[in-house]
Amino acid sequence: MPFDRLFQTQLDALKEEGNYRYFADLTRKCGEHPRALNTCPEGQEREVTVWCSNDYLGMGHHPDVVNAMAATAMQCGTGAGGTRNISGTQHQHLELEAELADLHGKEAALVFSSGYVSNWATLSTLGARLPNAVILSDALNHASMIEGIRHARCDKKIWAHNDPADLDRKLSECPANATKIVAFESVYSMDGDIAPIDEICDVADRHGALTYLDEVHAVGMYGPRGGGVAEEMGVMDRLTVIEGTLGKAYGCMGGYIAASTALCDFIRSFASGFIFTTALPPAIAAAATTSIRHLKHSPAERAMQRRQVARLRAGLDRAGIPHVPNPSHIVPVLIKDPVKTRMLSDYLMEQWGIYVQPINYPTVPKGTERLRFTPGPNHTDADIDHLVDALTVLWKQCAIARATA
Ligand SMILES: *Cc1c(COP(=O)(O)O)cnc(C)c1O
Repeated sequence: MPFDRLFQTQLDALKEEGNYRYFADLTRKCGEHPRALNTCPEGQEREVTVWCSNDYLGMGHHPDVVNAMAATAMQCGTGAGGTRNISGTQHQHLELEAELADLHGKEAALVFSSGYVSNWATLSTLGARLPNAVILSDALNHASMIEGIRHARCDKKIWAHNDPADLDRKLSECPANATKIVAFESVYSMDGDIAPIDEICDVADRHGALTYLDEVHAVGMYGPRGGGVAEEMGVMDRLTVIEGTLGKAYGCMGGYIAASTALCDFIRSFASGFIFTTALPPAIAAAATTSIRHLKHSPAERAMQRRQVARLRAGLDRAGIPHVPNPSHIVPVLIKDPVKTRMLSDYLMEQWGIYVQPINYPTVPKGTERLRFTPGPNHTDADIDHLVDALTVLWKQCAIARATA
């Protein structure tokens, strides 16, 4: 096809710089997380241990969650049958939204197709419709927030990552009549660092700004009921909007916001990305509700995750393998070269049965390519030892710098 050459030129450039993405062909096995089958390009299958899953707590395989999805599908069928407005609102959506509002201590919640869509739709609608809106966005915000802000076509300012003083300066530069929206995340997924939420809220309050917090990498895992870092810090009530996903620690799919009744009603009524799309299947909504309820009452998964994260970090320290220190469950090992990162990932898969996807540009800045490990409650001590052994051998083979401890 004549246009294919245009596509191919740009794809070739990606391959040239080592940033072309190859997807691993996986088949998850229910009840065996983090084990999965990997189908090689040559067609044969091998069992691998997944070390980069965002099903952080293995809830996607929890018997109650799986049963809720299967039972609801048998009872109600597969699809919701419509947009939320036109026949698609199922009782399971309303139950899920009530559960989410309770989780975050808010009056209401609103469910979207994904976390990406919830960020995109909510930020673009707030920015476009609030009078003289200015969105103040943390420099490392996720692509879904950036796209939402871009689509809002309102004024925007980027503040230095996790820097309340810079946020303060940027807020001071806003016109007096501006409606200011401060958008940030709690756990940043690539470096695993955590925002000083209370300090950011202090600054926002001083300037009368609305606060919008993405807790996608924290819900289910932080706080006594899995309400996220804001719950753990006791500051949920200071945030105007808490946004989250049902696709990561909750092991399902979908995204949401939790906020005041008026704000949720506003987004429900004006956000194109909420209105003009088919509602989530009721089976997914029911499974998500089950998962949230389970993690509200069970601290066991969170405790075990913390234990295994600490164990991996200690193992890496003993082996002299540098990893980014942070207070979260995310263990990034910087390789700083896209080709080397891919090579390590290939060796781990082929020689050690360890699957960790290379993280490259544009997910992270060029020169900060990395392997990103997410230990969970279902990784055994033996899994962790095996991973540390593998990295120790590969570090020698590939002559990668060790930590100078
Ligand atoms: C994954 C992610 C999202 C999107 O959530 P999905 O439910 O996967 O669409 C939003 N924000 C951040 C920070 C994320 O990492």
